Amino acid sequence: MFRIGIDIGGTNIAAGIVDESYKIVEKKSIKTKDVQDPSQMIKALAELIKNLMESALVKPEMVTAIGVGVPGTLDPESGKVLYANNLGFEDVPFLNELKAVVGEGLADKIYFDNDANAAAIGEYITGGYSAKNFVMMTIGTGIGGGVIINGKVLRGCNYAAAEFGHMTINFDGVDCNCGRKGCFEDYASAEGLMNLAWDAMNTSEGAKSCLSSKVSSREELNGEIFFEAVRSGDKVAKEILSEYIFYLSEGIINIINIFQPDVLTLSGGITKAADLYLDDLKKLVAKGIYSRNSSKNTEIMLSKGISDSGDIGIIGAALIYKM
Ligand SMILES: [Zn+2]
Repeated sequence: MFRIGIDIGGTNIAAGIVDESYKIVEKKSIKTKDVQDPSQMIKALAELIKNLMESALVKPEMVTAIGVGVPGTLDPESGKVLYANNLGFEDVPFLNELKAVVGEGLADKIYFDNDANAAAIGEYITGGYSAKNFVMMTIGTGIGGGVIINGKVLRGCNYAAAEFGHMTINFDGVDCNCGRKGCFEDYASAEGLMNLAWDAMNTSEGAKSCLSSKVSSREELNGEIFFEAVRSGDKVAKEILSEYIFYLSEGIINIINIFQPDVLTLSGGITKAADLYLDDLKKLVAKGIYSRNSSKNTEIMLSKGISDSGDIGIIGAALIYKM
């Protein structure tokens, strides 16, 4: 039997057929920008599903479930996408419309979830974690994540629980795009790190950093250049990283204090340089958590690879029906 997963991202809508061992046996994608409005999107999704099944020679009766990961808030009762900022969707009767066009024998197999929840489901199931309580934190342009409690994903009333990025860690901090101040992701996302670095470079001390000789604008600055500077022993870069790790640890401590997961995994591009900071991060977290004197505490680790390959969104979506 097979499952079909669709990951609606800001750049691509990626879809795949996933087999019993969680491997993608057939994959197709289209550009998100080629889809202008909700009805075009729904037609495009039905088309993707049809094309995938045709090229993999999969018949409707061989499909256990179809799952769609949507970057937005959803209403499980009505099947509506309430709001998806990046897609410009508001109050779209998503599930009903997709069911109407998906083709015979498939309508009652369709599920949807928030894309971050879908990714957490994918990581949790394919990573083979024995943890009952599990948190995945994804550090990218923003910070997102998913929470599994007693083996079930925590969706919240509109499927947008676990928006870790928008808990404030600094009430007097920078303005966040969500309307609050000092949100976790403004400091601890990959973007936050680059902002910290750019600000530090523009001080008299920072001007001496090798970063200042390599980069002349904020746009030129990226993680690769930054971590290379840290590896080369650049003092300013190392100080920026310490500051960054402090912010990251504060957010992680908050989450551990709330959920007490057995395992908390980190994923996202920034974890490629984790050898430079993971030990320090774990020490800061261990010092800060409420249950610091307990013999058993949350294990912090990197997600098991599959998350960074870009396929976890598809696999996770395909597995939404399980959780
Ligand atoms: Zn925010």
